[in-house]
Amino acid sequence: MTAQILVVDDVPANVKLLEAKLSNEYYDVITAKDGFEALKQVKEHKPDLILLDVMMPGMDGFEVCQKLKEDGEVSHIPVVMVTALSEKADRLKGLEAGADDFLTKPINDMALFARVKSLVRIKQLMDEVRLRDKTSFEMGISPEINSTFLSDVSGSKVLLIDDDEVQAKQIVARLSEVYKVQCLHEPENVMTLPDLADYDVILISTLLSGADGLRLASQIKSQEETRNIPLLVLVDEDDTKVMYKALEMGINDYLIVPVDKNEMMARVRSQIRRKRYQEALKSTYQKSISMAITDALTGLYNRHYLNTHLGNMVKQSLKNGKHLALMMMDMDHFKAVNDTYGHDVGDLVLKQLANIIIQGSRSAELASRFGGEEFVILMPETNPQSALAAAQRMREVVETTPFKINDKGDVINKTVSIGIASLHPDGDSGESLLKRADEALYEAKNGGRNQVKVGAVMAPKGW
Ligand code: GH3
Ligand code: MG
Ligand code: MG
Repeated sequence: MTAQILVVDDVPANVKLLEAKLSNEYYDVITAKDGFEALKQVKEHKPDLILLDVMMPGMDGFEVCQKLKEDGEVSHIPVVMVTALSEKADRLKGLEAGADDFLTKPINDMALFARVKSLVRIKQLMDEVRLRDKTSFEMGISPEINSTFLSDVSGSKVLLIDDDEVQAKQIVARLSEVYKVQCLHEPENVMTLPDLADYDVILISTLLSGADGLRLASQIKSQEETRNIPLLVLVDEDDTKVMYKALEMGINDYLIVPVDKNEMMARVRSQIRRKRYQEALKSTYQKSISMAITDALTGLYNRHYLNTHLGNMVKQSLKNGKHLALMMMDMDHFKAVNDTYGHDVGDLVLKQLANIIIQGSRSAELASRFGGEEFVILMPETNPQSALAAAQRMREVVETTPFKINDKGDVINKTVSIGIASLHPDGDSGESLLKRADEALYEAKNGGRNQVKVGAVMAPKGW
């Protein structure tokens, strides 16, 4: 895993030291000597992680962090504040500015690498989702992510697993100010909780008397339904071993016991935000994918998708010397349905026709809605005779299927006209195939509708 890390510090010796340590672990390091240069570097390089000194002249680390977190283009890049002070107030100020974690000078190597590794892993995961989202957005089909939804975390569900009843009571009291909190004193019951997958964050004590908190965390991480829930472990101040092990395991964050409640609130909030952000990206991605390729009314593939795949399919069929046939179907006098019963009934009829097409086509065939009441079915490895037989069958099914026009059981009869065309082994193309099918369809209409016509065999090359 290669990752780029920006080190920001006004003292050159500190920069050199961190640069050396990180380069040794094969990270790619860039540097900045003050806040202004840091902002410039981030804009230009979009690093995977920022190690940010707090005390700097001109613009301090808090301000830099705040500016970064306000900029949607770079706000997802994790920021680790590096401070000489271990003051609680300072930590809180940093978390409120949006920092993801803290390191205290002098920097402990184990803490540095564990933290860097864990944050870089999350960042690279998010990058992947963001990239897909960007592609969809460029195609003009991705709805914008609702940022209000992302920032309002109130009402989220938090689970606490802790058998220290006094501590648990205090934690629950504070978390309950904002979240719906459930506390479990017996860790054995966790994996069987019916709503475990619904939690937005889970806090687990590693100081349980009868159980291993880390093992429990790893069980939660290993289940498909729960692996994306952020986990925070409560760790004893002196138990650095557990802390590193937790981070190595991919646990999202830790809190030192006794728990600083303000810090806890800030960390829980940032974990929930991160989870929501990831989910939002994922769902817009999935939505835009299906929006991009399917027709909303019928659920069939849309014209855009057909065009893309027709090209690929033609190339492949020509290369492998396979047949390829295309059927273009248009409902006869469809306008009359709209005019007589209204547009909604027209839609209903189209959906039923789509169902007939889906039922009647083989799985290798690609059925698409080409236009209003026009459908194209692409039939790979189908010779002209079989294509004709399939089209005849489809025409017959439509003719004999009653189309519902309401819930009362009233039906109408409809018919379709079909034009078919077959791929010519020499110099044929998707456009030409479509054109010949369209011409055949036109002939079928002219011939009196409710019939199938075969398109002309393509003219030899050079005509
Ligand atoms: P022909 O037999 O020559 O195909 O006649 P037709 O009436 O089926 O064809 P025409 O092309 O004249 O009319 C098609 C109509 O389909 C016009 C348009 O308003 C309607 N239409 C297109 N898309 C939709 C849709 O999504 N829903 C509904 N209800 N109607 C649609
Ligand atoms: Mg029509
Ligand atoms: Mg038409």
